[in-house]
Amino acid sequence: MTRVLDLPAAGLVLLVGVSGAGKSTFAARHFRPTQVVSSDRCRAMVSDDENDQSATADAFELLHSVVDRRLRRGLLTVVDATNLHPHPRQELRRIAKKHCLPTAAVVLDLPADLIRERTRNRSDRVIDDDVTARQLHDLRRALRQLDQEKYRALHVLRTPEEVDAAVVRLVPLRCDRSDLRGPFDIIGDVHGCRAELEELLHRLGYRLRRDGQGRAVGAHHPDRTAVFVGDLVDRGPDSPGVLRLVMGMVADGDALCVMGNHENRLVRALRGRATRLSYGLQETLDQLGAETEEFRDRVLSFCAGLVDHYVLDGGNLVVAHAGLKEEYHGRSSGRVRAFALYGETTGEVDDYGLPVRLPWARDYRGRAVVVHGHVPASDTMWVNNTLCVDTGCVFGGKLTALRYPEREIVDVPAERVWYDRGRPLEPRS
Ligand code: GDP
Ligand code: MG
Repeated sequence: MTRVLDLPAAGLVLLVGVSGAGKSTFAARHFRPTQVVSSDRCRAMVSDDENDQSATADAFELLHSVVDRRLRRGLLTVVDATNLHPHPRQELRRIAKKHCLPTAAVVLDLPADLIRERTRNRSDRVIDDDVTARQLHDLRRALRQLDQEKYRALHVLRTPEEVDAAVVRLVPLRCDRSDLRGPFDIIGDVHGCRAELEELLHRLGYRLRRDGQGRAVGAHHPDRTAVFVGDLVDRGPDSPGVLRLVMGMVADGDALCVMGNHENRLVRALRGRATRLSYGLQETLDQLGAETEEFRDRVLSFCAGLVDHYVLDGGNLVVAHAGLKEEYHGRSSGRVRAFALYGETTGEVDDYGLPVRLPWARDYRGRAVVVHGHVPASDTMWVNNTLCVDTGCVFGGKLTALRYPEREIVDVPAERVWYDRGRPLEPRS
């Protein structure tokens, strides 16, 4: 029987256990040597002696520095240290958080007798029985604290058999779909414009699938995958119809969809949390009111489960609702999510009362093409390697798709002005 330990493929893994628990052995068995940063090795590097406790401060400074540099590159980093005390653990988690990466922990909590026997037989090191006793005590306390520290994954192995049976499975972050090579059709903010979406998919060569009532519930292209930049809902005439179609496409593997700020608000509203019913949310809730409870539940779990961005095509393409600066590509944290959904704002509002956005795209120097929505205008315009495909269909503009990698624009004009925002769509500048 194997026991599969799921760990994030990008991020920090803390090994936790007393001296002699088998952390270094475990690390050598499951990870590449360069992925493991060991406090004992760092001690040896700065003092020539793995056991020189007076070198501990220098050793940890070195260890933190290596962890910091590896995580900045998004590399899996395993810390082989006892990690029995909350402050050192917190410091390491802080570094992972700084780089918007998750932390997981693997605890080796083996029987005390076995530990004592192993430490006494150890040839490379002498560890006093009272040191072991103190560490075993610290481990009991650490086990309680670890539960509160909210790790992406927390695995506790309690017997040598469990340790032997362990198999590490590295799980990519949800945003990492670099395995998908496309080609893609990246579709801008739909905002409930179902008829225009059906027309656009048809123009892109997708074959629409309808249910017994004639409602579009899917669309398939033999070679291509659609990618929605979010804001499927609000303001427009048929948000449920758009959701039904896009949910069907995603379920069938014909489309991907990232979360827009409007889906985020819809999730809050459907969960009964206090939310202003502005910017078209009331219309969506009214439209959903005419649907079945089962459909509303599906909408909630679909929207709540949307990822904030996708890294596609081997890292060459990033899709996020409001765009994403390079240091956040392939990362996962509250900061990444806030940027992907809302962009970065100055905290000020413009003459129309709308938040003033920072021009992240103008400073973008990344290798990946970033395609996004969120900011409606009458046209599209490449800014460095980024493109906004929100052409304000719901405001009477058009619904736009970018064919990738061809970089062709395909668009469909709005049937009418569905929502008057009191000012015209302007060209990008
Ligand atoms: P660490 O101090 O937690 O890094 O522990 P080590 O990995 O250095 O292991 C301590 C001692 O236990 C060494 O002598 C190892 O050979 C032994 N050991 C570690 N893991 C195992 C294991 O799974 N089975 C057995 N039989 N011995 C182990
Ligand atoms: Mg060790």
